[in-house]
Amino acid sequence: MSFSSLGLSEQLVRATTDQGYETPSPIQLQAIPAVLSGKDVMAAAQTGTGKTAGFTLPILQRLAENPRNGKGPRVLILTPTRELAAQVHDSVNLYSKYVPTKAAVVFGGVKINPQMMKLRKGVDVLVATPGRLMDLYQQNAVRFNEVEILVLDEADRMLDMGFIRDIKKILALLPAKRQNLLFSATFSGEIRSLAQGLLNNPVQIDVAVRNTTAENVEQSVYKVDQSQKTALLSKLVRDNSWEQVLVFTRTKHGANRLTQKLEKDGITAAAIHGNKSQGARTRALAEFKQGQVRVLVATDIAARGLDIKQLPQVVNFELPNVPEDYVHRIGRTGRAGESGHALSLVSADEGKMLAGIEKLIKKQLPRKEVEGFEPKNNLPLKPKAKADPSKARGRNGGNAGGNGRPGAKPGGRSNGRSQSGNDQRGRSGQRQSQSA
Ligand code: AMP
Repeated sequence: MSFSSLGLSEQLVRATTDQGYETPSPIQLQAIPAVLSGKDVMAAAQTGTGKTAGFTLPILQRLAENPRNGKGPRVLILTPTRELAAQVHDSVNLYSKYVPTKAAVVFGGVKINPQMMKLRKGVDVLVATPGRLMDLYQQNAVRFNEVEILVLDEADRMLDMGFIRDIKKILALLPAKRQNLLFSATFSGEIRSLAQGLLNNPVQIDVAVRNTTAENVEQSVYKVDQSQKTALLSKLVRDNSWEQVLVFTRTKHGANRLTQKLEKDGITAAAIHGNKSQGARTRALAEFKQGQVRVLVATDIAARGLDIKQLPQVVNFELPNVPEDYVHRIGRTGRAGESGHALSLVSADEGKMLAGIEKLIKKQLPRKEVEGFEPKNNLPLKPKAKADPSKARGRNGGNAGGNGRPGAKPGGRSNGRSQSGNDQRGRSGQRQSQSA
């Protein structure tokens, strides 16, 4: 199968060739014809599957087939984070190299005026985070009456971050007749009810098995006391000669502290989280990509949307509070067919989180110990005896925590996810401060 056999124009195929893509990824195989057909789409897909090209390429083709003269935007792509917005915008620019499409991106945390000026000039494809988009709308800087296609990218994360009200407001302002595309890594009851209200007889695409970690990522758990984690991480970076490792912490302060300690140990490191300015984040990411910084320490929200090609190694310095975040985190490695490694440093107090993760991914992770770092506080880390599945099901309305399939009966999720930090909007009063 090739991009041209999917019905894409020569100009768009040429843009993919320029990127070095040889064959469409599984999601692209399904999404491209579906979007071209004009139907609504509901796709289960994580970052790393090639979903961005999966929706962008056919959207660009539809725009080119129907040139219009308005000011736009004709396409609205909503994303949860600035980083993802910036990355999707970059992708739109890459793929539209040979077609006459104007794209713009708007997000919070930076000055609004330049964004207003850009919008005034007219735009075909607008990539936006919901909070800033609403601000711009309220200031009459953007209108939605020409929107033909709406994309909700990483819809699950948008809900987690508390954007549902802004999303609903935006939906109410869009023309009724339009094409809707919804992408989400996980499908909770909440996402399914959003989808139900939004999508009209959608084509359902389900390539990435949600809440299942990528096959090509080797995962393991290192048992270690909390107090020894930094020393162990330094040792692992050195002994394995890791030159590029993405490390996750639960909090911004944790990220800063760890970065400082690694630097003290002579390992170049940078932190990326919501308290950092956009400039600092972009710089840290660029230095990491170029190899000037060996360790990038990130919180879950900040890491969302990072696209670093062929990242070989991910470390969970702490397990995430929310099991689904584990899936997102390790999705940063083993991308686009590469193999990757993900290891988690787990201390006794994290036993419950580990159990939650293993239940979600339906897999027991192998336990390891490093000589000299054996934990004093041993954890209930032995894989638990298999629970009786008939008992497990009845509880909490749940399968293993919101991994229902699109179109499956609603099954409640057991974990509340309202705590995700939300630094994207730059509006006081609505921020939550926990992570990011
Ligand atoms: P995404 O899931 O959209 O974030 O894409 C993940 C990565 O895969 C990006 O670095 C893309 O450039 C890359 N990619 C997308 N489509 C393909 C393809 N067909 N072949 C190889 N790489 C691809």
